[in-house]
Amino acid sequence: MTQVSSELAFAQRLSETPKSAAEREAILANPGFGDHFTDHTAVVDYKVDAQGEGGWFDARIEPYGPIALDPAACVLHYGQEIFEGLKAYRHADGSVWTFRPEANAARLNRSAQRLALPQLPEQTFLDAITSLVQADQQWVPSGDGESLYLRPFMIATEAFLGVRAAREVSFRVIASPAGNYFGGELKPVSIWISRSYARAGRGGTGAAKCGGNYAASLLPQLEAEAHGCKQVLFLDQENDNAIEELGGMNVFFVFKDGSLVTPALSGSILEGVTRSSVLQLGRDRGLNVQERKITLDEWRSGVASGEITEIFACGTAAVITPIGLLKDENEEIGSAEAQAGEVTMSIREELLGIQTGTVPDKHGWLRRLV
Ligand SMILES: *Cc1c(COP(=O)(O)O)cnc(C)c1O
Repeated sequence: MTQVSSELAFAQRLSETPKSAAEREAILANPGFGDHFTDHTAVVDYKVDAQGEGGWFDARIEPYGPIALDPAACVLHYGQEIFEGLKAYRHADGSVWTFRPEANAARLNRSAQRLALPQLPEQTFLDAITSLVQADQQWVPSGDGESLYLRPFMIATEAFLGVRAAREVSFRVIASPAGNYFGGELKPVSIWISRSYARAGRGGTGAAKCGGNYAASLLPQLEAEAHGCKQVLFLDQENDNAIEELGGMNVFFVFKDGSLVTPALSGSILEGVTRSSVLQLGRDRGLNVQERKITLDEWRSGVASGEITEIFACGTAAVITPIGLLKDENEEIGSAEAQAGEVTMSIREELLGIQTGTVPDKHGWLRRLV
């Protein structure tokens, strides 16, 4: 067992059966989202020893493939799991970069804290994604809006059915080439208001990026799709229907008076890296940026009066997506025919430009991987 030190090197055990160049090219020609995976995976294991000392060990790059897990592994029974999502972008000169990975590393540790999983050193997180992208650099697409999506995750692997925090854990990173999420044109999406379900509650795990929150959002997501909507909006139904977020994206409102508003972090909202970047870009352009409570009533009346001019959702996977229509069984707010707004589109272009190297990176958000 090689203990992880501060100058962690990921041992390389490269695949003897990587996909052929032809197979890879065929996948990269039409990557989709989350359907195909690269040849390797990064792994670091963790164990608490007999003295009660925990440590990370055996950092390695190994061939992508199934994980051997004991059927009693805690993650399979009690859902002790967290994850992250970020992207690697190929710039015009062939170099490969990622966007604010320290923010993902910090958030992983906040999620780990809430799910009683061990803290992972930030440098190990950065080394894992760097080593993996270096091993699989031919998998980073170069087309417009394309990227290599990176999915770090941490699972409780200890075989034990008593309920307590696991003493054996695995941190892994897999990578999946990602196409332009919405294809060419960016059309506003319709959103379904979830009246019967919540994704998170007070004191729950809403601020952590954990699989359990997503499991809870799947049934309302089916309901949304049955009503012709792309995504679900979750509200604070216990109180005043304050807007929380979508199943996996934060929400922003552009006001006629130049305000850019997003719901304040309440403990049940996930703090997106895209959200915090949009807040900064809003400040940079002199918008009156506010993190505050905004209720469904304000959404309804603001759209009716024209005070609210644009609404968009944001997250790493789909970047920035305009919202046209919001509806439930009884009402419709906005219009499915709405056009993407000017502020939405210009912030989207600026953010994408920074990520792909065509707009100056004033805030030092990019980290080179290859
Ligand atoms: C990941 C996630 C987001 C978006 O976060 P980004 O860091 O911007 O990708 C928003 N909401 C939820 C629930 C999420 O899991």
